[in-house]
Amino acid sequence: MNVASPIKALRADFPGLLTANGQPWHYLDTAATAQKPRQVIDAVARALGEDYATVHRGVYARSANMTLAYEAARRRVAGFIGAASDNEIVFVRGATEGINLVAASWGGANLHAGNRILLSQLEHHSNIVPWQMIAERVGAEIDVVPLTEDGRIDLEAMERMITPQHKMVALAHVSNVLGSPLDVRRASEIAHSVGAVILIDGCQAVPRLPLDVRQIGCDFYVFSAHKLYGPTGIGVLWGRQALLDAMPPYQGGGSMIDRVTFARTTYAPAPTRFEAGTPAIVETIGLAAAIDYVEGIGLDAIHAHEAALVREARAALEHINSVRVFGPEDSAGILSFEVEGVHPHDVGTILDEENVAIRAGHHCAQPLMDHLNVPATARASFGLYSDESDIAALVRGIERVRKIFG
Ligand code: PMP
Repeated sequence: MNVASPIKALRADFPGLLTANGQPWHYLDTAATAQKPRQVIDAVARALGEDYATVHRGVYARSANMTLAYEAARRRVAGFIGAASDNEIVFVRGATEGINLVAASWGGANLHAGNRILLSQLEHHSNIVPWQMIAERVGAEIDVVPLTEDGRIDLEAMERMITPQHKMVALAHVSNVLGSPLDVRRASEIAHSVGAVILIDGCQAVPRLPLDVRQIGCDFYVFSAHKLYGPTGIGVLWGRQALLDAMPPYQGGGSMIDRVTFARTTYAPAPTRFEAGTPAIVETIGLAAAIDYVEGIGLDAIHAHEAALVREARAALEHINSVRVFGPEDSAGILSFEVEGVHPHDVGTILDEENVAIRAGHHCAQPLMDHLNVPATARASFGLYSDESDIAALVRGIERVRKIFG
């Protein structure tokens, strides 16, 4: 196995990639959450230490500086994803909150009895449940786009299914189980052909693929910083300005208002209207540092690196008797598999003894498990710091699983 990569040396930036006794830790659960580079850890420590103060309120210099840094982070995000303006960037707790915000606010104002919402069979629960909640509230219905044989959202089927009753389409850019990438441009064209709005769940795509939200043509895009080598507790909702401007607030409180009286409250414009309360100041600074880090490497390089690793891993696993690999050939950094006759949790436990961390379970995608007709899968997911030693350790571990259960 030889995955040559100029970004291999970056592994040393990640203190989390060692075990407690200093051994290499083969972390193959980056799709759940990514390890953090020293640069992000240091930025967070500074923001929490010598630079710490609140934003948007203080009259003293430290707070004014923190406000500048917080708003600079918004600009950084806008530039990173190709937004038309900083005002299109809403800071949220994560992708889950971003989707709930759109479902409750946009959905509450725009979805009515008899309207339909289009999701796909491979969605994460966070891109299913918020839609079920709003559908139930307003009397809308949900339809599900099936998958192709190799595990992609079937856009031809979507084209046949969609009707003018569909007002919202919400799809994953990259599946968190199969790694399948979506042609968002095409999906957006199909959604727009009937006048529907399209939200893309970019959780697994943002750390793995170059992104330009205007170029791909969707209307909303959400992601979580912690999968992009940044902190937990912060994520991004991007929305087209006109859509955000027309949406009612999601939560009420401090910071999101224009004027409050007991008779009537008026709201600040977007994105402030959607950021009630003291924001995740430190985490936002950490997200900006993570974007600096990732952009310093380049998403093209990261994508090429992970694609090569997935190809290597797929070939190695397919070589092992009794291992079945799920998902398409061009999966983006994520590989689900099963070892025949062994529960994925047992696979994960034995691999852990070999210092290999994988995920085993339904991956918050139970409808996809139903479709695959399995209760769970084992999942190896790669990051920019992964290398061929991780694949070798995975293969060694699976051979041990087979010996134990053989
Ligand atoms: N969508 C996808 C595709 C995901 O992989 C995840 C995280 N597993 C989420 C949404 C939810 O992200 P978070 O838990 O950070 O809100």
